[in-house]
Amino acid sequence: MELVFATHNLGKLQEVQRLIPKNIRLLSLDDIGCNEEIPENGLTLKENALAKAQFVKDTYGKDCFADDTGLLVDALGGAPGVWSARYAGPEKDPVQNLHKLLIELKGESKRTARFKTTIALILHGETHFFSGVAEGTIVKTPMGSAGFGYDPVFQPAGESRTFAQMTLEEKNIISHRGKALEKLSRHLLEAVQTGLK
Ligand code: IMP
Repeated sequence: MELVFATHNLGKLQEVQRLIPKNIRLLSLDDIGCNEEIPENGLTLKENALAKAQFVKDTYGKDCFADDTGLLVDALGGAPGVWSARYAGPEKDPVQNLHKLLIELKGESKRTARFKTTIALILHGETHFFSGVAEGTIVKTPMGSAGFGYDPVFQPAGESRTFAQMTLEEKNIISHRGKALEKLSRHLLEAVQTGLK
């Protein structure tokens, strides 16, 4: 069975391919000839994930899943949330985003936050959603060089290290994306086993 993962990021595609059933072959947006950036204009992670999956289904006629992730910081009323990639501007510069976050939280003692990932899957005419959450806090000084985005300042609950100080395998076990993908994977496994091919 072939399934599109609505991403242009080959690294992300390979990572997700490792987590889902082996008899499902993932195709990237580039694999299906979609070279454009699908707009993410929704007000929620769910809306954005669904819009991307729906775009692929409507335009290319292929079953698809898409994800959207946001960092929700309590002291900032849930910001940057759905704007996480564009927090410091449309350039989507991760260094600027992280810098802005630390400035906004300067002097703030309440630093609890969570990453949330929502996945929308369109398969065999049905739409399903899967989500994963990682609770944690925003540290005052970036630590570690692994990962991406806000990883150097996000310390998962119960951990002394930030995501950026963990290996990808360690992060996947406790991360928002890892948890959402695990639910997706379980669903796909059932779909394959019940012969919905
Ligand atoms: P996306 O929906 O996966 O593109 O994520 C949106 C934005 O959230 C990214 O541009 C990053 O800034 C941030 N982000 C998503 N996932 C992570 C993560 O696992 N660690 C750190 N930042 C993340």
